[in-house]
Amino acid sequence: MTNITAQRQNNQPPAKPWFHRPVPLEKGSRIAVIGGGIAGLTAGLALQENGYHVTIFEHDHVPMNRASGNPAGILDPSLTSRESLEGQFYHTTMFRALDFYSSLGRQVFLSRGLLKFTDDSSDDNLYFPDPGTISPPKIRDILSQKLRIKNNVNITSFTHTQKWHLFEGDKPRATADAIVLCGGPLARGFSPTDHLPLEPVRGQITYLNAEKNDDLPRKTLCGKSYITPAFDMNGQMTIVTGASFSRNDTDMSLRGDDHRENLGNAEILWPGISKRDITGGRCAIRAYSPDHMPICGPIADQEQYQAAYKMLKHGPKHQNFIPAPYVPNLYAVTGLGARGFMSAPLLGDLMAALISGDALPVTQAVYESLHPARFLIRALKKGK
Ligand SMILES: Cc1cc2nc3c(=O)[nH]c(=O)nc-3n(C[C@H](O)[C@H](O)[C@H](O)COP(=O)(O)OP(=O)(O)OC[C@H]3O[C@@H](n4cnc5c(N)ncnc54)[C@H](O)[C@@H]3O)c2cc1C
Repeated sequence: MTNITAQRQNNQPPAKPWFHRPVPLEKGSRIAVIGGGIAGLTAGLALQENGYHVTIFEHDHVPMNRASGNPAGILDPSLTSRESLEGQFYHTTMFRALDFYSSLGRQVFLSRGLLKFTDDSSDDNLYFPDPGTISPPKIRDILSQKLRIKNNVNITSFTHTQKWHLFEGDKPRATADAIVLCGGPLARGFSPTDHLPLEPVRGQITYLNAEKNDDLPRKTLCGKSYITPAFDMNGQMTIVTGASFSRNDTDMSLRGDDHRENLGNAEILWPGISKRDITGGRCAIRAYSPDHMPICGPIADQEQYQAAYKMLKHGPKHQNFIPAPYVPNLYAVTGLGARGFMSAPLLGDLMAALISGDALPVTQAVYESLHPARFLIRALKKGK
């Protein structure tokens, strides 16, 4: 049982009212998920399995076509100390991700077994038998069968009068009891979420010809960059390596410089690999928060928050604060950064627990470290 459940049973106020859990939503209610990347699909599935009617609205013609659209994704174990909240979070995400993707079927794993180089310049490495390389296209196919997804719908605004009303331009698209925003870097494109500090970070991956299969890694290699084992990509044996990292850059064109950077980093992991022919690549935009933790939870009403907690600059014991004033039934799962495939299944569980009022799948402290309002609270504590 989590701390928060225990607090409720004892009728004691939570320690930090600004992170108070939102009022649970009745089972059977309608939930609109905006964005059909891996965050939207895992949150949508977790909510559906918790008894809600979920519809996912996706701008593109297929889901998982942007950051989640690479031909391969790595489940890369974090070595951050578990004394930190980040370490605790990413440690738990790995267990949940392995369990989740395994439950979708063996075909989801392109390969298992991962060699993690703890220091790029040396032979120091750790072997993990279970993680490895997963196939986002296969995950998309399987999850699309399980969920109600409306493609080619770009939600541009929503208003709240008893229910949420979603619009594409001036066209009404749907009504819903709750909205979960999963639009990656675009999740801040609405007035209630424009305060979320999301930074777009461009990433490019490089495809290398692996038809000649000698002298290639049989396991996934991870260091500063990664190299997948060879797999069949549209009829051609391919290895994928990457990914480049350009902050505040949303240009989507493939760059020769990024390929060269990827090959240089790959060469450290597997000398000789950069002599292979480049057969292509792909570029997409990740969403990062300033503290590099994802953003998952209820959305604060910014004005009311600032009014309710302005005295926090004098310390948390200054007065009795009211429970968090949230925008009613508006949530977000975004800021998944460079490890979205690993974190999305656990974040989906967390979203379902928050909306349904169930026990949290993470500790209270980890929940708070993911809370969308943590940036507002940090600023208020500094008197900003
Ligand atoms: C080059 C690269 C390599 C990566 N490699 C790995 C890896 O190996 N392992 C790993 O775990 N992670 C990796 N990542 C990170 C991972 O891909 C992301 O963290 C993850 O895909 C983010 O998922 P998302 O659903 O939040 O965002 P996205 O996949 O970007 O999904 C957001 C979706 O929302 C839709 N949308 C946005 N606004 C609207 C709107 N208003 N209406 C309707 N739809 C909307 C978009 O069209 C999009 O489909 C990589 C990322 C990049 C860019």
